[in-house]
Amino acid sequence: MMNIINSYFIIFLVFFMKSDEYFMNIALQQAKLSFNQGGIPIGAVLVKDNKIISKGHNRLIQDSSVIFHGEMDAIENAGRLNYEDYIKCTLYTTLSPCTMCSGAVILYNIPKVVIGDNTSLMGAENLLKDNGVEVIVLNDKKCIDLFDKYLQENSEKWIKELSKVGNTTKIKK
Ligand SMILES: [Zn+2]
Repeated sequence: MMNIINSYFIIFLVFFMKSDEYFMNIALQQAKLSFNQGGIPIGAVLVKDNKIISKGHNRLIQDSSVIFHGEMDAIENAGRLNYEDYIKCTLYTTLSPCTMCSGAVILYNIPKVVIGDNTSLMGAENLLKDNGVEVIVLNDKKCIDLFDKYLQENSEKWIKELSKVGNTTKIKK
């Protein structure tokens, strides 16, 4: 009997639970949206109970924003949630999150972050881990390739962008 219940449970998981790759692909679509707007190609989605509750993308250049990184945009677009909601969320982001976005994750007690690419840029992953956040790095080729294309085509813009934050998105000790 238990085996039958387990089998049904596994079938349920396979058919109804979406994978990290599925959600990362939606985040990647957001990154491409920013790229097509002339912006930095970083996208994010916030997922609760296996459902996307918000999407966001980097808006610094196209909207002259100071704080709307992809992750901040997704968190903002989810609206003002309650603690009970945030603790059920996972943030998917195409690029390793900076100190600001990691800070927002920690502040709102989001327990898990899935990262598409940390080879193009390393953010504040240790800050997340030191604060008990589960960090999963996919190093998804599609995320890496998109950011690589951006760097190839916009190296001057990117150098200027990084100079604004003292050339690092890591923890400043
Ligand atoms: Zn950020």
